[in-house]
Amino acid sequence: MVAIPWARQLVALVFLRPAERRVARTAVAAFALLATSVTQVCAQTQAEFENCLVRLQPAAQKSGVQPASYELFTRGTQADFTVIEKLNYQPEFRLAIWDYLAGLVDDERIADGKANLASHAEVLKRVEAAYGVDPATVVAVWGVESNFGRITGNYPLVQALGTLSCFGRRQGYFKGEFFAALRILQRGDIAPERLNGSWAGAFGHTQFMPATYERLAVDFDGDGRRDLVDNSSDALASTANFLRRGGWQSGQSWGFEVRLPDGFNTSLAGRKNKRALSEWADRGVVAVDGRPMANTGLAAEEKTGILLPAGPRGPAFIVTRNFDVIYGYNAAESYALAIAHLSDRLRGAPPFTTPWPTDDPGLSRAERRELQTLLVACGHDIGAIDGALGDKSRAAIKLEQSRLGQEATGRGGQNILRVLRAESGTSHPANR
Ligand code: CA
Repeated sequence: MVAIPWARQLVALVFLRPAERRVARTAVAAFALLATSVTQVCAQTQAEFENCLVRLQPAAQKSGVQPASYELFTRGTQADFTVIEKLNYQPEFRLAIWDYLAGLVDDERIADGKANLASHAEVLKRVEAAYGVDPATVVAVWGVESNFGRITGNYPLVQALGTLSCFGRRQGYFKGEFFAALRILQRGDIAPERLNGSWAGAFGHTQFMPATYERLAVDFDGDGRRDLVDNSSDALASTANFLRRGGWQSGQSWGFEVRLPDGFNTSLAGRKNKRALSEWADRGVVAVDGRPMANTGLAAEEKTGILLPAGPRGPAFIVTRNFDVIYGYNAAESYALAIAHLSDRLRGAPPFTTPWPTDDPGLSRAERRELQTLLVACGHDIGAIDGALGDKSRAAIKLEQSRLGQEATGRGGQNILRVLRAESGTSHPANR
């Protein structure tokens, strides 16, 4: 494999949720230049949308949506052009892997995950027996995808996917998902008013797209409906089924942190550049605690890659085929690492040993909320204090950084938090 410039391994696309990123990434890759501006899109009318829905009906019928169902579930639907804006959004802000992970694998999510492991222990045990995927992995996916079912998206799917099928780029892809959503409603698996999700159509605890739902969702509680919106048993089992169908190897780890020898040839790194574990051992790679590879629980002939998510100076990982399976849930190595690491933390493992190559580490969601609270106290309008540092928060951070004579990056890290905290005269804000 060709060595990738390390800068490109920094994670882009970050304030989008995983399923949205999935779509946005493809869109960005396919269209370097935006052909359609938001203004042009907004000039489209509801009438055009309704004509489009009429035009799509025969194809929907061909895909299995009965005319009566199509009429019933699309009747009165208003186009929502905000989803086209989301589709066209190109993040100008690139989030480093350490910022990405600091928000996804923080104390809060680890505690929530452990609580969910305990409260769902019985069903998770049966899920493991049925699909061969361990509870911590399933719960980690759940935690990253929807914050354990708390954040599943508010866009009515028929409206969002209908609009995306009629306007903007990738209409063909979205048409397939639109018809799948209508088939879900037709089967009565999920009630129309409950079929809400991300702007791009990922829904429920698992954030499956409708076509993925049709392929992989399971009815685990046996009530005759595959309900990923209101039934956590169905959702947990469906996640496990997704992983199993992706090739999950039961009982095998996703990988582990390693220490590379001095002078390690980093062009050998890469998730896909798989070699026998024994070959890495021969090259001097050891587990990060110094254990030889032979004592890591993986077979010597196991094909593994070396992942360097922040380049040669950051943490290094051996990754197995199971890491690739997690990657299959949402094609981003940062995403797969977040789930892999969260699963380890849920099993009681410590944070990574090797520090990230930065003197300004990332913020947990609690710290992001604290930073937002401090920004509000400074008189900035940052919208809701939600722990997500979006455009408004970053603009406010930029202003504060300028005022403080720092480089105005708009990035929220430990440094700006520390300074604003000190200025506010307390190191233990009540809002933490
Ligand atoms: Ca069910």
